[in-house]
Amino acid sequence: MSEQFPALRALTEIFHYHIHVYYDETSRARAVKLHALIGERFAVQLGRFFDQPVGPHTMAQYEIGFFADQFAQLVPWLMLNHFDLPILLHPNTDQEREDHRGSSFWLGQPVPLLLERLDVSLIAAGHAEPRAVTINSTPTVQA
Ligand code: ZN
Repeated sequence: MSEQFPALRALTEIFHYHIHVYYDETSRARAVKLHALIGERFAVQLGRFFDQPVGPHTMAQYEIGFFADQFAQLVPWLMLNHFDLPILLHPNTDQEREDHRGSSFWLGQPVPLLLERLDVSLIAAGHAEPRAVTINSTPTVQA
């Protein structure tokens, strides 16, 4: 009997990407600095600071949204410059729960997520697609 493999997914399923930067009271200043450094260097959507857990997130965090054109620069830059903060990187597709689970990766120490708060399929849950990403940074510094 031959092994059955799952159907391949197409890159076109990815609307955009998120990183989530997690922090607490002792690391908040580093998180604030990183937020500013990212905005100075990359064309991204800089999200607001959530000092309380929200949605699937069990710690304070903020979100940075970006498109594929920034990926190859932003992600390696974060590998070198994340101030030891936990960072989740995930794609945004229809499959929100899997985006945050098996399709994601972490820099630093992973933080538990409440995955059951995420939809298995956004379309099946009545949402057309992931929340839009609107670039609001003005990069002026070479990464
Ligand atoms: Zn996200």
